[in-house]
Amino acid sequence: MEVKMNIYLDIDGVLIGSNSPQKDRVRFIKYILKHYPDSTFWLTSHCRKDVNRTAEQLQYNGDLPKKLIAKMDRIIQPNGFDTLKTDGIDFSKPFLWFDDNLFYSEKEVLQRHKALDSHIMMNKKEPKMAKIALKILKEQKLHTDNP
Ligand SMILES: [Mg+2]
Repeated sequence: MEVKMNIYLDIDGVLIGSNSPQKDRVRFIKYILKHYPDSTFWLTSHCRKDVNRTAEQLQYNGDLPKKLIAKMDRIIQPNGFDTLKTDGIDFSKPFLWFDDNLFYSEKEVLQRHKALDSHIMMNKKEPKMAKIALKILKEQKLHTDNP
């Protein structure tokens, strides 16, 4: 059974520019593409209204395999926002948002929607972060599959 949950992904400090080993970040990304192919969205400054530069950013400023970047580009949906990243979140659905940052104003919006737990703070200095994030995803799936 596919889980009805949206995934929101930041790029810098999460998929690239983090101390997590490449193989762990690749595993994390592949898991998302496999289990949430229809409900994963960019939530990054590299994807604003009408301008999606995520593939360029991943390709020129990161270390991920080209094939994987192409697959992400096909599957992950663009999602523009104006000022706050929370503007790009659909609060009517359960979600997980992986980001290495959270502005105070965004935190307030999450709190208002009782969704603070849906933001996963990705510590880019922590080498185990991608592994931890994958574990969170797997636990979430277990929880959602067997309510
Ligand atoms: Mg970031």
